[in-house]
Amino acid sequence: MELPRAFPDELLLGRLIRHLLLSGESSCSFCLRVLGSSRSSLHPFLTAGISSIAKLANEDAGKLLTCQTLAPLFFFYLPQHASSLKEDLLRGDGARAIRHSQLPSFCGGGALHLKWCPLCVSEDLFRIGVAYWHRAHQIPGTTSCWIHRVRLMSTELKTRQRLNEGLPPLDPRKAQAATAFENDVAQFGAELLFQLKRPQPATGDMAEKYRTRLYELGYITPNGCVRRKPLMRAFTSGLATYPPQKSLFPRHNSDYHYISTLLSDGASCHPFRHLLFGAWLFRSAEDMLLYPAPIAESNSHEATNNKQREDEKQGLTLLKQGLSLAAVYRMTGKSRCYLKRLAAVYGVKLNLKPKQLNEELQQRIFRLAGLGVHRRRISQICSIGVGSVEQLISTDPDLVKWRKLCHFESKRRRSRVQVLRYRQMNPRALRREIKRDCSAAFFWLYHNDHEWLERMLPPATQPRPRGKQRT
Ligand SMILES: [Zn+2]
Repeated sequence: MELPRAFPDELLLGRLIRHLLLSGESSCSFCLRVLGSSRSSLHPFLTAGISSIAKLANEDAGKLLTCQTLAPLFFFYLPQHASSLKEDLLRGDGARAIRHSQLPSFCGGGALHLKWCPLCVSEDLFRIGVAYWHRAHQIPGTTSCWIHRVRLMSTELKTRQRLNEGLPPLDPRKAQAATAFENDVAQFGAELLFQLKRPQPATGDMAEKYRTRLYELGYITPNGCVRRKPLMRAFTSGLATYPPQKSLFPRHNSDYHYISTLLSDGASCHPFRHLLFGAWLFRSAEDMLLYPAPIAESNSHEATNNKQREDEKQGLTLLKQGLSLAAVYRMTGKSRCYLKRLAAVYGVKLNLKPKQLNEELQQRIFRLAGLGVHRRRISQICSIGVGSVEQLISTDPDLVKWRKLCHFESKRRRSRVQVLRYRQMNPRALRREIKRDCSAAFFWLYHNDHEWLERMLPPATQPRPRGKQRT
């Protein structure tokens, strides 16, 4: 037995509905025969059980998945979940497929709808004699027909068995024109679905494309920071004319988290949010797919690093020639402090008039620093500025590391002693009292010496209902 041939951009669920209407078979019997259970509930756009349906229709399962469901949008925008989602849809595990599509986490499990365009219905009836469910109309959040640029009608799928929905009705009401932005988004989505029928070359991370395009439009600074306020202002101004879409729109003009998720590498985001942002950012889906993603910002970072290296090289060359700090400062514009440090790091002898920080003094400072003496104390002992002491210490990375370790151990010792003393003086103290009275030591140990803290704290008490006193 075969399914009726698919009409252009027909939804797989719609095709199955048409098959039941033509054959007269009940939905329960169809589900039991093909999907193995009479209680199977098919999702309108992420229809599971594709392998069994493909066998029935004697067609390629991959083609059904790519051309008659909205799975390609999920594969494209959620590549990290694509293989699991594909496997679930082919195998027929609808519940797992929905979990892997991330829809429950995006929308909180909202009601499902089937949408249709009144003008498409009239045209289909006139052209082929039957109205059918178009796939591109079913994109969640889309409110307009990309062909006729009118608002879509919608019916909520209230019953569990979606195969009994019938075909889209002929509606005598006048079609309502959609706004320009609604049409742009619908066009973008339909075009992307069309493009995704063909295997796409690896397009890289979407976040990279978005960031590059935003950089081009001036919404990202040369240092890679997003100009969030103007970006959100421009983006949300277009949404004012769009019928509100619960959980798919930014909650308000300063919902920066919305943009951050779209611009984060590997973050999961509802495909409609991508469509909305993509339609606003690029002229068409094809432009977006073909858009090169050179990392303009990282190029700018690289340029900055190159400039720093050049400055360093120039400063060192001049210092090695024996020029005074003042002369090198006049030629490069780099401060005396920077130049002194540069000379110390690369072991260049400076042409300095006062020789207070001589070799002997330097060795003394290194020795004291190695013993963990505080820099202010070293400054007093050696009668030299704290800045000079800090600068000298920073030239030896091993010494810096060692002093950091000493500092850490010292802090740990002090914090432990504080908590232990408090416990000795208050043996009946609860955890929350220790936290309240030794908060700095408590939180330091919580983050840096958690195991020890847990061992030393009294056992956690069960929460008590309000009003009951501790016995
Ligand atoms: Zn239409």
